[in-house]
Amino acid sequence: MKLPKSYLHKLWRAVIEFEMLFTKDKVLVGLSGGKDSLFLLYALKEMQLHSPFPFQLAAATIDLGFGDPNANYLQNYCQRLEVPFFLKKTTISEVIKKTSFNNPCSKCAYFRRGALLTLCKSEGYNVLALAHHQDDAIETFLLSLLYSGQLKTFLPKTYLERSEVRVIRPLIYFTEDEVKGALKYAGVKAIKDPCPFSRSTQRTKVKALLKTLVKENPNVYTHLLSAMREGKKIELWPQTPDKEEMHRRYKTFLGNVDTFMGTL
Ligand code: SF4
Repeated sequence: MKLPKSYLHKLWRAVIEFEMLFTKDKVLVGLSGGKDSLFLLYALKEMQLHSPFPFQLAAATIDLGFGDPNANYLQNYCQRLEVPFFLKKTTISEVIKKTSFNNPCSKCAYFRRGALLTLCKSEGYNVLALAHHQDDAIETFLLSLLYSGQLKTFLPKTYLERSEVRVIRPLIYFTEDEVKGALKYAGVKAIKDPCPFSRSTQRTKVKALLKTLVKENPNVYTHLLSAMREGKKIELWPQTPDKEEMHRRYKTFLGNVDTFMGTL
């Protein structure tokens, strides 16, 4: 089913604003089987059909080892869209269970992205498309602030010099609700996430917190989104001085005290 104009507008706006795609790019989509990646693949396919320049499209599923990744279902979906499909089996779940049981997601995402980048390299794809949307970016912004004391989120586009791969996030102007609603156009259903951690992550806590805040103030997401943009007015504490600078400041302070005492 054809996507509504408003959706195509959001997709092309992201692609043009952040200079995500160029002629003859070979784009590999990370396809987990969740609603976001299923929709991203469909959206990119529709963009490819009407794009003013040619680019290639394929999809890859990383089997994390948590359970059945429904590879047949995903392969059939790709066949219907006439998109090549890759499946990469890994033992990421074993590593996660052993080393990061209490906070598995950041390491898991890191390893999964690593597996996708390796596939890009071995299969000759220069662009990796990930299905993060606007709400993901906002939640990551808050997660970084609350759990690691850093004011940052992922970027709509990043060039990874070591792998020579451009990572793009074309759904960056879609809210989660919009993606949910858009899946009907793709004519596909999201598959159940086999990961045992998927319901109790730091992200689910931040999502719940935002949900509560939105009840009181419906502009919470918009305000966080606006705070994420560079060029906004920032008033933060100055950087912590290093030892030498702190020593200098003590000396100046004590010098001032001596001068003051001398005047008494
Ligand atoms: S919820 Fe599971 S699959 Fe998703 S990032 Fe966390 S550990 Fe990995």
